[in-house]
Amino acid sequence: MNQKYDVIILGAGAAGLMCAIEAGKRGRHVLVLERADRIGKKILISGGGRCNFTNLHTSPENFFSANRHFAKSALARYTPADFVSLVEKHRIPYHEKKLGQLFCDRAASDITAMLDQECRDAGVEIRLNTRVSEVRKNGGRKDDLHETDQFTVQAEDASFGAPRLVVATGGLSIPKIGATPFGYDLARQFGLKIEPPRAALVPLVFSERDCKRWCDLAGVSTEVIACTRATKQTFRENMLFTHRGISGPAILQISSYWDGKEPIHLDLAPDRDLTADLRTREHRDESSWKLLLREILPRRFADRWLETYPLAGNSDRAIADAERQLHSWDVEPEGTEGYAKAEVTAGGVDTGELSAKTMESKKVPGLFFIGEVVDVTGQLGGFNFQWAWASGFCVGQAV
Ligand SMILES: Cc1cc2nc3c(=O)[nH]c(=O)nc-3n(C[C@H](O)[C@H](O)[C@H](O)COP(=O)(O)OP(=O)(O)OC[C@H]3O[C@@H](n4cnc5c(N)ncnc54)[C@H](O)[C@@H]3O)c2cc1C
Repeated sequence: MNQKYDVIILGAGAAGLMCAIEAGKRGRHVLVLERADRIGKKILISGGGRCNFTNLHTSPENFFSANRHFAKSALARYTPADFVSLVEKHRIPYHEKKLGQLFCDRAASDITAMLDQECRDAGVEIRLNTRVSEVRKNGGRKDDLHETDQFTVQAEDASFGAPRLVVATGGLSIPKIGATPFGYDLARQFGLKIEPPRAALVPLVFSERDCKRWCDLAGVSTEVIACTRATKQTFRENMLFTHRGISGPAILQISSYWDGKEPIHLDLAPDRDLTADLRTREHRDESSWKLLLREILPRRFADRWLETYPLAGNSDRAIADAERQLHSWDVEPEGTEGYAKAEVTAGGVDTGELSAKTMESKKVPGLFFIGEVVDVTGQLGGFNFQWAWASGFCVGQAV
């Protein structure tokens, strides 16, 4: 039997739940279908278990997309302050860690419990452990669109119908907890274009040669400015050596802008004038250079650096060359750790296919896409959740 709803939402993640709450509050009869055994699994593992649920400084510049204007409307209509007031309404304790990033004091489960409660209050029905095998759109008569122009969603043991279908199935990151290409496949099925998905906010992997040289420093971290020449984006944060390459906030951020070919440019001594610093030392030999490096870099990294790039004498030129090297270390990663370790998936449903105000497909009325499945990706720091909340909110008002 085909059970009827006003709105069916596929995916009980951040975006799908926010959309369900808003649509439910407007009196819509809402069904959320989720293939996992609980809601918001990604929320639970986010932010190291504390969920960096928004960023106070959110602006369109914190997002990338083939159309960088697309996210503006949704971000303006549902702001970090709106989500913070929801968090405060539920008396969830939180704090700002740094750079406007808001985290739960206790655990990310505070956020899923809040969303669960809001769904209940709004009369939303959630069906877990539901695998959707097929989605069909039945043709409708133009004069009676909402009654007959139905989407039919076929699950293993039941089928559901609604005039509006919202796809909130997320991206490809972390297949271990159930990420699937379902949303992209569905978009293609209905003839919508996709910006090729790729892993973003992801650790980088060194070549074998570089790994031999650096990877035993795994766990060592230092502040850097990371950039790529092509995009001119720069991030001043920590870099961390791993067993396979480099990670840490600065590297995760720049990975999203990396084209997979050009070197990543690292300044290992931001704002330091080493030549001037060296002049304050008695000698300008290798041992004073080593002392200086140890002030700037963690000791093991400083010593390895000197073994790899020894000082070529104590002339002004040699010192200047050594300084230049430290401010512009070009690393050439072999690749990324891929979706298994990526915090998000860049690319997705082409924004040209969607209304920026309602996220409704221009080609297929009644079909909506929200959250990570859309080609809008945030930088590190709570921006991806803010996009999920904002896009979910906007569709909740439209369906
Ligand atoms: C380790 C990690 C840490 C993160 N930390 C942060 C952070 O602190 N701050 C931040 O802003 N962002 C963070 N992110 C990114 C953030 O989690 C995502 O951008 C956000 O969850 C996207 O929300 P969404 O609702 O679009 O997708 P998701 O949260 O991925 O939800 C999609 C839902 O759809 C379900 N689904 C998939 N296929 C189907 C199907 N066929 N039928 C039914 N259901 C289906 C999935 O099971 C899932 O529940 C993190 C990501 C990871 C992986």
